[in-house]
Amino acid sequence: MAETFDVVVIGAGPAGSVAAQYAAEAGLSVAIIERRTRVGEPVQCGEFVPGVEETKAIFDKCGDIDEMFNVPSSIISKHTDEIIVHSPKDKLYKVPFIGFSVERKDFDKFLAIRAEKAGAKLFTSTHARGLKNDTVITTKGEFKGKVIVGADGPLARVGSWVGLDGPTLLAPCILEELPGDFEPKLHIYLGRWAPGGYAWIIPKAKSANIGLGIQHNYTEQSLRKLFKKYLEHLGLGDKKPIFKSGGLVPMSGIVKKTVSKNVIMVGDAAGMVMSSNGGGIVPAMLAGKIAADSITAHIKKGTPLDKYEPTWRAGMSKPLKNAQKTQRVADKFFKSDTQFDLSLSIVGRRGLERGIKCRPLFGI
Ligand SMILES: Cc1cc2nc3c(=O)[nH]c(=O)nc-3n(C[C@H](O)[C@H](O)[C@H](O)COP(=O)(O)OP(=O)(O)OC[C@H]3O[C@@H](n4cnc5c(N)ncnc54)[C@H](O)[C@@H]3O)c2cc1C
Repeated sequence: MAETFDVVVIGAGPAGSVAAQYAAEAGLSVAIIERRTRVGEPVQCGEFVPGVEETKAIFDKCGDIDEMFNVPSSIISKHTDEIIVHSPKDKLYKVPFIGFSVERKDFDKFLAIRAEKAGAKLFTSTHARGLKNDTVITTKGEFKGKVIVGADGPLARVGSWVGLDGPTLLAPCILEELPGDFEPKLHIYLGRWAPGGYAWIIPKAKSANIGLGIQHNYTEQSLRKLFKKYLEHLGLGDKKPIFKSGGLVPMSGIVKKTVSKNVIMVGDAAGMVMSSNGGGIVPAMLAGKIAADSITAHIKKGTPLDKYEPTWRAGMSKPLKNAQKTQRVADKFFKSDTQFDLSLSIVGRRGLERGIKCRPLFGI
């Protein structure tokens, strides 16, 4: 016998937990299906979150979001006030940007617990394998839902079960957390260190999350080899990592369609990543809330579920599309460090700031 819920959310990442929390707060019965044994582990993230004021400036049509981003200080690892962009020839561009690094495993757990406190039921070690009409088939039995939420990350399997396309370009990333005392600034390295992407240093309390992401069509070198060179360049080649990880970042932009039948997609599954800076936590959470509101209106008032589509696009697509345009401009210069350096000097610090903050690169 299938357990029955109003909403079955697949994936307890930021998108799924926020969707589950707000749907449960609205009085719906909600199940969250998560294949991992412990939510948020292993960490596959640079662990950087823009401050709430930066988020509000980027996603200025998403309404009041303070409460959603009200996270306990114990989860915040280090506050940062600047992003320092290193050109391929090591010219520095300093962009003011307030944010913080988190212990991502604790961050995801906090969001899942917040959803549970609102009334959602979390099922860990439970892998969703398929969908038959309104019933999700998992490794731990069947879950029936009026609405199914595909919050299952970049591979977007849930959407594919109802014919929805997920991201078509996924950038492979590699990272290590290294011990040490790092200044409260986020560093981004462009050009040869990470062809088609960028390399980062994200400072944490007593360590830094250091990594890079690339597009394979810009280099024949392996991720591991590039990463070794990058660590050596930073003088960190002989440090013993606290942990090593990697993952995939959607780079193809937002998908064409996010609703089909009784299924909606949120977060990475729908390509909702700021591709100019790789940030996906914030858009995943914002979309999770919009998804919950749309599902609630659908179940309680009979509003068509596909109202979700224009609603999230009205709130979020402009900055996400700007970010993707910036990424496309950058893509043109990855083949040559000299050209990349020149283009950065034309774009300048202000242009970089606009790119990072998901505004039009050239101000129009
Ligand atoms: C290396 C790397 C570094 C990054 N750095 C940053 C950063 O610094 N800042 C930032 O904002 N973003 C960063 N991102 C992006 C960010 O991690 C994602 O955009 C964000 O996690 C998206 O949230 P989500 O809830 O959509 O998906 P996810 O966080 O991927 O959550 C999906 C969940 O679904 C579960 N799941 C998947 N399939 C199934 C299934 N069939 N059944 C049950 N459960 C399933 C997964 O186990 C997972 O818990 C980074 C990504 C990578 C890979």
